[in-house]
Amino acid sequence: MAVPISQAWTVASYVLKQKLAGRKRYPLVLMLEPLFRCNLACAGCGKIQYPAHILKTDLTPEECFRAVEECGTPMVSIPGGEPLLHPQMPEIVAGLVARKKYVYMCTNALLLKQKLHLFTPSKYLSFSVHLDGQREHHDLSVCREGGYDIAMEGVKAAVAAGFRVTTNTTLFDGADPNSVRAHFDDLMAAGVESMMVSPGYTYEKAPDQNHFLGKARSRRMFRAILSNRKKNWQFNTHPLFSEFLMGKQNFECTPWGMPTYSIFGWQKPCYLLQDGYADTFQELLDSVEWENYGAKSGNPKCANCMVHSGHEASAVDYNFSSLKGFWETAKRYIFPSLYEDAEAQKLLNEWPKTQRGPLVQIATPVAGTKQEAAELQEVARD
Ligand code: SF4
Repeated sequence: MAVPISQAWTVASYVLKQKLAGRKRYPLVLMLEPLFRCNLACAGCGKIQYPAHILKTDLTPEECFRAVEECGTPMVSIPGGEPLLHPQMPEIVAGLVARKKYVYMCTNALLLKQKLHLFTPSKYLSFSVHLDGQREHHDLSVCREGGYDIAMEGVKAAVAAGFRVTTNTTLFDGADPNSVRAHFDDLMAAGVESMMVSPGYTYEKAPDQNHFLGKARSRRMFRAILSNRKKNWQFNTHPLFSEFLMGKQNFECTPWGMPTYSIFGWQKPCYLLQDGYADTFQELLDSVEWENYGAKSGNPKCANCMVHSGHEASAVDYNFSSLKGFWETAKRYIFPSLYEDAEAQKLLNEWPKTQRGPLVQIATPVAGTKQEAAELQEVARD
């Protein structure tokens, strides 16, 4: 089972309640960003490009709890920045667990092993470890040699200590589907509960803008990766979202499904774009002109987007909107043979081996004056 039954039940009953209440726009997962500081400087991200005074600012536990209560979702994802750099992260996580929220604390796991003792295993808590592929690919993706080995040590330590551990893998142009499939084997062998894979965000602040996947390339790559699945692979994304990535389903974006809250407030309209901020979740719902977003809107910023935070909630909503949606979803669990695809196997067999340049290590942090950088490095070491 990709998630505990209690979690599946909580989420299903929450969504049904929203449907019965006739709520057209409801949130599913809160993306809570309590800080932007990080101990990596990945080429496909850009959070650490904020000025130093922003990087040094954290949401307090009280601010986090207020946002969680305001939004009301059963699941809270904590991306960042690197959450383990937040000095009060154990308090924030404990507070969310006490509120019976299913928490996915996203981490690059560089500090996971050494900070594990600050957390308590719970069915409500999962460490979602960022691992972009096998050793060479991950190190290249996060611009840090040795990053993969440290993260895998963290994964194994957390699994051994009885924590739920999941992974998230972000793919960019140049990813090798055969290697990604071998990566899935490695992760399941390491004892992770389930995995998530999605295409890289076209994030405006990312230093490397040349390797985000277009839609056609994404679909081809995800079809090669996610067809003909091994029996032991477990994914924690909705099966119809996987099919959307493979080009077998078409969903419009529901950006309100996974709203983002950070030190700036409620981000308009989604995790990727920054078209302003709202002070309250209700203000976010009321003030965004939602028809201006998503592929159908013609907004060029949305044209290539297949991102999880915009489209998985669409798949979940479809699942609960009709008997057809329910059956479409159930079939994916009952008949694994639906993923058999001879064409996809051919794609895999013929996929060219990726040629890579040398790893370029980007120094952290990338912001501010020399003195600010020194201060931030000190914070990151804590
Ligand atoms: S399509 Fe992507 S960029 Fe556009 S609103 Fe949705 S999640 Fe944001």
